[in-house]
Amino acid sequence: MSLRKLDVVIVGAGFSGLFLLHKLRSSGFSVAVLEKADQLGGTWHWNRYPGARCDIPSLQYSYQFDEDLQQEWNWSEKYSAQQEILEYLNHVADRFDLKKDIEFNTEVISARFNEEKSLWEIKTSHGELETKFCVMATGCLSAPNTPDFKGLDDYEGQLLHTGKWPQTQVDFTDESVAIIGTGSSSIQSIPVIAEQAKHLYVFQRTANYSIPSNNGPMDPEQEAEVKSRYPEFRKENWENGFGIAGMAIEEMAVEDDEQGRKEKFNHHWENEGLGFLGAYADLMLDKEANEMAASFARNKVKEIVKDAEVAELLSPKFTIGCKRLCVDSGYFEAFNRDNVTLIDLNTNPINCITSKGLMAGQEEYSVDSLILATGFDAMTGALTRIDIRGRKGISLKDQWKDGAKSYLGLGISNFPNLFTVTGPGSPSVLSNMVPSLELHVQWISQCIEWMRDNNKKVIESTKAVEEEWMTLVNEVADLTVYKSCNSWYNGSNIDEKAKEFLPFIGVPPYTEKITEVAEQNYQGFVFDKTN
Ligand code: NAP
Repeated sequence: MSLRKLDVVIVGAGFSGLFLLHKLRSSGFSVAVLEKADQLGGTWHWNRYPGARCDIPSLQYSYQFDEDLQQEWNWSEKYSAQQEILEYLNHVADRFDLKKDIEFNTEVISARFNEEKSLWEIKTSHGELETKFCVMATGCLSAPNTPDFKGLDDYEGQLLHTGKWPQTQVDFTDESVAIIGTGSSSIQSIPVIAEQAKHLYVFQRTANYSIPSNNGPMDPEQEAEVKSRYPEFRKENWENGFGIAGMAIEEMAVEDDEQGRKEKFNHHWENEGLGFLGAYADLMLDKEANEMAASFARNKVKEIVKDAEVAELLSPKFTIGCKRLCVDSGYFEAFNRDNVTLIDLNTNPINCITSKGLMAGQEEYSVDSLILATGFDAMTGALTRIDIRGRKGISLKDQWKDGAKSYLGLGISNFPNLFTVTGPGSPSVLSNMVPSLELHVQWISQCIEWMRDNNKKVIESTKAVEEEWMTLVNEVADLTVYKSCNSWYNGSNIDEKAKEFLPFIGVPPYTEKITEVAEQNYQGFVFDKTN
C-alpha cells in the first residue's frame, strides 16, 4: 500500500497549529494536523487545573488575523479562564472548518528526513505518512516535568500533574492534598483548592513573586473602545518590547523619588498584573532598579500574610522577573487560612514519596491527592521528546545536547523543511504568545508559498547563522537581569538540560529582523543544498 503524501504536516492543534492549518489550506496546500490529545487546544486542553486562566488580558490574548472574528467574539472576563479559551479555540475551528483536517489521538513517534526523496517520513501511533514540510506547532510549555522523586510509583492516592490535568472533574472536598511547586500553575490553583480541601500542604523550594490579577467581568466600555480600533491597538502593543500593552514606559526607577516610586508601583500592583514590570523602563536592566520593585513586592507579601514567619518564607529573595512573574487571584491570602500549611523544602527536603503521601524532613504527610506543579521541560522538551532525525540520521536531541541552536527560532541546521513555531531564539515566552505565533505562522506560510512560486524544494538553516543568532540572543540577555537566577528560561529547572538562555528579548527588533530576512529571499537560509 502506498504511503499517504501531503505537502505539510503540522504537529499540534493548539493556537499555532489551528492558524497554520487555516493559512496553508487557504493557499492550496494539502495539510494535516496531527494531535496527540482527543481534542484541540494544546496548552489550553492539558492545563485544566483549578484556577487555570491566562495572565495576559483577554483582549490581547486572541487571534487578530480575521477582523470579523476579533470583532464578534466576546470575552466575559478581563483575564480568561481556561474553559473559555478552549471554547474560543473550538469556535475558531468551527468557523474555519478546521476539524476535518485534524487527526486526533495521533501521537507523532518519529520524523525522519529522507535525503534522497527530500521528504519527511512521519511515524505516528496510527501509521505512517510522507510530507514535504513538517511544522512543529508543539508549544513552548507542553512537555511536563516530573521530577525523579524516590518512591513516586509507590504512591497509592490520586497523583496529578498541573500540566496534564484529567478531563473529568477533580473534587478535593474533604481531602488532604499536597502540592509540590510554587510557580504560576500552583499559584493559580492554590486559592481554589484551599477552598475545597480539608487541608492543603504547599511544598515550596523557591518563593515566587506574584502580582494580583484584580480579575473581573469584562468592562464593556473598554471592550468597545478597543474594538473600535482593534488593528491600531494590536499594533501599538506590538511596538513595545514584550508585545503587551502597558510595557512601553520610558521613565527610570532610579531617577524617580521615593514617593513617586511608591505611587507608581502601587498603581501597577493594583492594575497591571504582568505589566507591573513595565512600571519603569530600567526594572529588567538595572539591579538597583529591580531591587526597588522587588522590595515593594516583598513588602506587599508581608502586608497580606498575617503570620510573620510564613510571610518571610513566602518572600522571594531573587531578582524580580528573572523567573517568569506570576499573576494570581488570592494566592498570598490563601496562607491566612487555617487549612493551608506551607512547608519549606530547603529546611525539610523531600526524602521520598510513600504509599500514603510524602516524607519531608522527618515528617510524613499523608494525603489523598498529590499534585505535581513542577513545570515543564520548556521550549525544547516537546521537540526533543519526539525522535526527530535530519540529514544523515542526526537526531535533534543529540544535536541540541550542549544547547539548542536555531536560526530565528524558525529553522534548524541539518533539519531541512522543518519549521518550529515560537522556537528557541525567538521572543515567544517573553512576549504575548498569540501575536508571536501568528507572526511565525504568517512567516512560515509565506516562505512555503514563496518556495512553491520560485520552484525551490528544500530550505534549511546553517550552523554558522544559527551560532551567530544564538550568540546575539545571549548578548541581548546579558544586557538585562534575566540571567540572574535559575529559571526555565535558561534550562536550569531540568538537571540534564544545557544551561543557556533561550528566548530573544525584544519584539520590535525581532519582527524587523525576520521581516527583512523574508524580504531578502530568506537571507541566511540555504535552498536545495546538493551535498
Ligand atoms: P514553573 O514555573 O516551572 O514552576 C515549577 C515549580 O515547581 C517551581 O516552584 C519549582 O521550584 C518547583 N519544582 C520543580 N522541581 C522541583 C523539585 N524537584 N522539588 C521541589 N520543587 C520543584 O512551572 P508552572 O507553574 O507550571 O509554570 C510554567 C510556566 O507556564 C509559567 O512560568 C508560565 O509561563 C506558564 N503558565 C502560564 C499561566 C498563565 O497564563 N496564567 C499559568 C500557568 C503557567 P524552583 O523554582 O525552586 O525550581
